[in-house]
Amino acid sequence: MQSRQNYINGQWQAALLGQTRDILNPANGDVIGVVADSTAEDTLQAIAAAKHAFYQQGDWRHMSGPRRADMLYRIADAIRARTEELALLDCLDNGKPLREARCDIEDAAACFRYYAGLIGKPQGGVYEVPDGFGPMHAYSLHEPVGVCGLITPWNYPLLMATWKLAPALAAGNCVVFKPSELTPLSSVVLFEIFHEVGLPAGTANLVLGSGPAAGQPLADSHDVDMITFTGSTRTGQLIARAAVGNLKRVGLELGGKSPNIIFADADLEGAVEWAMIGVFFNQGQVCSAGSRILIEASLKDRFVARLAERANAMTIGPGVSDPDMGPLVSAGQLEKVLGFIERAKAEGATLVCGGQRHTDGDCARGYFLRPTIFDNCRSDMEICREEVFGPVVAIQTFSDEAEAIRLANDTPYGLAGGVFTTDGARALRVMKALRAGVTWINCYNPTFNEAPWGGYKMSGYGRDLGVNGLLEYQQVKQVNINLQPGPVGWYSR
Ligand code: NAD
Repeated sequence: MQSRQNYINGQWQAALLGQTRDILNPANGDVIGVVADSTAEDTLQAIAAAKHAFYQQGDWRHMSGPRRADMLYRIADAIRARTEELALLDCLDNGKPLREARCDIEDAAACFRYYAGLIGKPQGGVYEVPDGFGPMHAYSLHEPVGVCGLITPWNYPLLMATWKLAPALAAGNCVVFKPSELTPLSSVVLFEIFHEVGLPAGTANLVLGSGPAAGQPLADSHDVDMITFTGSTRTGQLIARAAVGNLKRVGLELGGKSPNIIFADADLEGAVEWAMIGVFFNQGQVCSAGSRILIEASLKDRFVARLAERANAMTIGPGVSDPDMGPLVSAGQLEKVLGFIERAKAEGATLVCGGQRHTDGDCARGYFLRPTIFDNCRSDMEICREEVFGPVVAIQTFSDEAEAIRLANDTPYGLAGGVFTTDGARALRVMKALRAGVTWINCYNPTFNEAPWGGYKMSGYGRDLGVNGLLEYQQVKQVNINLQPGPVGWYSR
């Protein structure tokens, strides 16, 4: 256990008011770290450092794409070299099973590699234009936006950090990053890596602390040119409102209540396993979780029986013992999820399995919850409308394709959705009808650095990952060139 600090202008430093925060292991409530607990003063100092680095110093902004790519490749290599340490930190900090944490770290290294590769590729365009004023030529340049504030949640600590930091840095921006106050430990290691590879001072700044104290100033500040945020829809709305002040660019990756649609002709065992990956992976704390299973009525009883059988067989324990499910991230999150469960029961949903804490053996002091299935749910129930962010799934039936689509889209969210069927044309029809930004056919939840990620409707706007993820952090400048210098004769009538 060591004390971890903010990283501002290339220096590690304590919070200016000297406050610290204990970081807890959700498997047993033990303190596993002490970190700086910043206030607005710290964030403003970090913004000033990023502003100076971008506008005055310009080392990173003006560095050639290939040289920035070299740095990002070295960051990727360093992440890979520290995989076990980083995986253990995310596992202890967030609670996730070790094998899931290892995948997150591998994905994070691959994400830096992806953007390192992309920044060296041709960007912008060359345009044939009409010659109204004489012969002209036009092209476009992609430039960094400037000072970017990046804010992330606790469910994928290192990976969410990387989804933002890798493209923002690749594009040449200077950034202030604030991770969730619940899970900051792996982010500190990432900034150690930034320091070791020699990112110019002020290019990447880390501020540790709560949302209202350390995050909100990023949304409020007129010195921040762009803010990208992953987290709850409620906080996203606060950020979007604050960003209006200087019309900073905003990217929002928010919550979801995503449908997983299963037709009677689907492969039953495959659909059951993917449904589990859809809603029990990471203890269900996944923004894209398939938390509403919409199943064709004729398959429902067999499906629910098999899903419950497999859910009851899942191993539960501290993430380090590599179980199927670890604890929820905090006591507060456990309490919140148990509240949803109680209200679902009160509204008449049928509890098939789970619904209670898991306190066996070494789980007694942790925030463990048994995988939970509710059957006979209706669209007007809270359990079908609100994001639970825990291992809880609501089951509804449909009788035909049109009803499946209507139920699937009956939500203010639009992050994700899945469809299971062996009828290829139907799979494509239903996928096209889904009002959601990320979709799956005959699988649920795998995603790749190469493809854009983001939501429709109240799940936000903007895209992480893929080429779109880089474009988010770039301005496009139009350049017009006169190929025949000299007077054009416009005023010589
Ligand atoms: P949250 O909104 O409570 O917090 C997210 C981050 O915002 C944290 O760093 C927090 O400190 C900060 N924050 C809180 N209030 C703030 C404020 N007023 N100003 C600035 N920053 C503030 O969300 P959470 O509980 O950490 O994460 C869970 C949520 O994240 C879920 O809703 C989930 O769906 C969403 N999520 C979405 C995606 C996606 O890609 N769409 C991915 C992961 C998680």
